[in-house]
Amino acid sequence: MPAKHNKKSRVAASITELLERLSTEYGPFVWEARYSPAEELVFTILSQHTSDINSERAFKNLMSTFGSIEAIAAADVARIEDTIRSAGLFRMKAPRIKKVLTDIYAELGSFDLSFLAEMPLADAKTWLKQWDGIGPKTAAIILCFSLGLPAMPVDTHIHRVSKRLGLIDPTTTADQAHDILESMVPSENVFEFHLFLITHGRQICKALRPKCDDCLFESTCPSRKQFE
Ligand code: SF4
Repeated sequence: MPAKHNKKSRVAASITELLERLSTEYGPFVWEARYSPAEELVFTILSQHTSDINSERAFKNLMSTFGSIEAIAAADVARIEDTIRSAGLFRMKAPRIKKVLTDIYAELGSFDLSFLAEMPLADAKTWLKQWDGIGPKTAAIILCFSLGLPAMPVDTHIHRVSKRLGLIDPTTTADQAHDILESMVPSENVFEFHLFLITHGRQICKALRPKCDDCLFESTCPSRKQFE
């Protein structure tokens, strides 16, 4: 058997085992669209550099104030700022939201992004990333959470845990990790893998003091010795 095939088989086996163990510990997670793609885009910008609680509060306030994505796009930046203060960095986020919505509307004449689900995944990502304010993570969140596509969003927790578990090289950036992890995980498991690793990173494999003694990977993790 060619060496390349051997390597791929080993990775597939380890990912399968990883998924099984994570699923037993944290699962199940069942996909359900939470927002429309355009709403998910706005929500993701609000969630940058803040907690879920703050971004959810800001998003609810934004939608209840303006009532629609169309009305947000038409609003003054100052009014958007006032509405999203709880998300923090509101002077940066409000113009970013306004600009990306304005740009998309100028291109499409609507905020219906459902056509992305019909495109090849790489093309859908490219389409989203052409707009200022949409990087690999935001694009993947929109495609994964709103449209149910197998795009892998990589946040700080997933990036850290993946490096510690040896899934990606220590020098791999978070932006690079999106496509690498996505290619390692079966399409049908991408959504739950994302949520499993976030949960593991938040609860056990914390940034400063990981709880290795309580970790389901305690006996196999290549980074375990660093934290003894
Ligand atoms: S053993 Fe420690 S470093 Fe490794 S995944 Fe678990 S908590 Fe993280």
